[in-house]
Amino acid sequence: MKIVSIVGARPNFIKIAAIHRAFKQHSVIQSTLVHTGQHYDACLSTVFFDQLDLPSPDYYLGVGAGTQTQQTAQILRTFEPVLEAEQPDWVLVVGDVTSTLACALVADQKDVPVAHVEAGLRSGDRRMPEERNRMLTDSLANLLFVTEQAGIDNLKREGVADERIQFVGNVMIDSLVQYRAQANKLNTVQKLGLTPDNYVLMTMHRPANVDREAGLLQIGQIVENTARYKTVVFPVHPRTRANLARMGLLGRLTNMPNVRLLEPQGYLEFLNLLEHAAIVITDSGGVQEETTYLRVPCLTLRDSTERPVTVELGTNQLLTELNPQSVQNRVAAILAGRTKQGCIPPLWDGHAATRIARIMSHQAYKR
Ligand code: UDP
Repeated sequence: MKIVSIVGARPNFIKIAAIHRAFKQHSVIQSTLVHTGQHYDACLSTVFFDQLDLPSPDYYLGVGAGTQTQQTAQILRTFEPVLEAEQPDWVLVVGDVTSTLACALVADQKDVPVAHVEAGLRSGDRRMPEERNRMLTDSLANLLFVTEQAGIDNLKREGVADERIQFVGNVMIDSLVQYRAQANKLNTVQKLGLTPDNYVLMTMHRPANVDREAGLLQIGQIVENTARYKTVVFPVHPRTRANLARMGLLGRLTNMPNVRLLEPQGYLEFLNLLEHAAIVITDSGGVQEETTYLRVPCLTLRDSTERPVTVELGTNQLLTELNPQSVQNRVAAILAGRTKQGCIPPLWDGHAATRIARIMSHQAYKR
């Protein structure tokens, strides 16, 4: 059985690494890797191939920078000949990025069945490009692999047949489990001169937060307030850095006392920073899940989360306004010990990719 798996952006590499490894355990599966090139910076792409033991992609589509529509158009145009050459039995897509939807659409148009990993997640906010990608990809998918109960509920509500939905757990956590010891050995925390539990780790890159000057000003205030309690370690996403620079705000952040602005970190470096942070402040999807698994208190600065289990069972707290005072209150409460320990959600056990590979290896669905 030939499966073409798609990667395009940072979170995809982490998820596909686990799946590709599991596919290799099944002699019936022939796994082909396509990298769309949506993320192409070394710090967002190459380092993940190296650290996560991903083989070089069999195809590189080189779509590069552009608007979401331009990138989609480029992927549609360049992925079609790959499918024609490969004639796979399945196309497997993960997550909610532009590459996920674009490749699912090409596969559907070529009558190749689509498997979607991390299906069914819904924030309920259609202004988010990721939410539109999730909904449209799920509507094209033949097999939908789900990470949490809310995903099953959402898909059923949307009329997806039960036999297409498979609750398998979380492949992001598979990679965390696999690489945690290696990340700790690297000891980035110590190399950066930090003390475990004595710093706050921050990531921000969602357009709703970082594309507006008002949002960036609030984020600057949040960093400044938090740095009064603990060192703030902030690996800055290229989108955020470019916006800060364009709006003349980068210098202010760079010069703030007790703040360490870093380049985006490699996976192992970031995992080590996550595990030993006192608090994580983020707008990332994956980081909400990773902190839940590691039981590190997480403040998510977004209107909504498509990963409700991280709030219901995990350590995540949602702050729906980008309000420096509210963040400061939560930071102070966590540091005073007023926070929940949380527990690890069902099937987030490091074996999700094994389940996916087993299910796919038994798929009777043939063209
Ligand atoms: N990550 C990383 N280095 C960083 C920031 C994040 O390796 O400097 C990893 C981290 O494991 C995170 C994943 O990249 O879960 C996904 O990142 P991102 O927040 O870009 O994507 P999202 O999950 O929001 O789609």
